[in-house]
Amino acid sequence: MNRQQRRLLQKKIGANANKNMQEQLNLFHKLPEACSSCQEPFDKTNKEMVKSWNVMVKQEVVRLFCPECVRKANEVVDDFIEKNNIKGVKDDRKPTD
Ligand SMILES: [Zn+2]
Repeated sequence: MNRQQRRLLQKKIGANANKNMQEQLNLFHKLPEACSSCQEPFDKTNKEMVKSWNVMVKQEVVRLFCPECVRKANEVVDDFIEKNNIKGVKDDRKPTD
């Protein structure tokens, strides 16, 4: 790889990194201002909230869930698994490598 090629590559990588950052920023601006489930207000300037709330992105649509709704959702799933006697589901959640 000569100098010019290396410079071109760096330029390319740099441009991509910037693009990704820009996309992340755009996503952040798209964050809803309340929980998508219970409408609990979300404060993006509150670091604790940013850390504990759950963001889900699906096809450019950003959804936000408060810890309480995430907990309830997990309970429903666990309850469903228990009631339906679904075996092996919890094992499947483990990474397989
Ligand atoms: Zn909620």
